[in-house]
Amino acid sequence: MATEDEPPHFRVLGTFEVTRGARRCTPSAPKQRALLALLALHANEFVPTSRIVDQLWSRDAPRSAVAALHGYVTAVRRVLTPGWGRSRASHPVLSTRPSGYVLRLEPHQLDLTRFRELSRQGQVAMAAGDCRTAREKFTTALCLWRGSPLADLNDTGMFDHDVTRLEKEYLELLRNRFDVMLCAGDGHLAVFDLEELCQTYPCWERFHEQLMLALCQAERRADALTAYARAYRLLSNQAGIEPGPRLKALHQLILNGEDPFDRAHRHERALSGLPPAGTGSP
Ligand SMILES: [Zn+2]
Repeated sequence: MATEDEPPHFRVLGTFEVTRGARRCTPSAPKQRALLALLALHANEFVPTSRIVDQLWSRDAPRSAVAALHGYVTAVRRVLTPGWGRSRASHPVLSTRPSGYVLRLEPHQLDLTRFRELSRQGQVAMAAGDCRTAREKFTTALCLWRGSPLADLNDTGMFDHDVTRLEKEYLELLRNRFDVMLCAGDGHLAVFDLEELCQTYPCWERFHEQLMLALCQAERRADALTAYARAYRLLSNQAGIEPGPRLKALHQLILNGEDPFDRAHRHERALSGLPPAGTGSP
């Protein structure tokens, strides 16, 4: 297949990249890049022109904004499909709808779609008790994460809202992956990453909990108690709250010298007396 015929591939989980075959074709003009990134974040969804204008011009749009947008759309269509425009055919990837646009991408054309699908498959496997498969899916998904999403485009804060949402999805994926690691008894491999995450996201109580469990698995029960003391301090400094009932119960369990891993499915950590873990929240 000639490069000219290759469908474009988009990556948003890190710096924004568009490629066709082995060739990079990310537009260099900032507004064209931002337009494509915005449409990629909402691939296969209708995105109204008004929303694009608001986001690209930060609610400070000149009268000429819509006309300028039409120009950008034409330009990025040529980037995505070289040679497009010779006929009057509609564009194969970026379609016009009444007062808006849709970027139509197959799952393999966008890293975000694969990331979410792998994450979903992992959760399904985990719920079915197949933590081995879940771990493979989570690990593959994490490989797609190259750093802060759209880092090169977000100096204006244009994508703050989207980036915050994606980072939350990423943290939830990490949390699930640590659960399946703990289930396999591999807590010692997670200690270092968890220590860092507890510092960076002190209000994600599950990370403190996982760190304590990981330290127990690494036969570092005294460090697990120290981790609790640190969690206590971080939570009260950052949020003015005490650790929740799960964390307190886990602390007590370790103090009593009991084994926190006393059930077949250790990721569920159905510890006696521990309230069930919430789903989808820290
Ligand atoms: Zn499990």
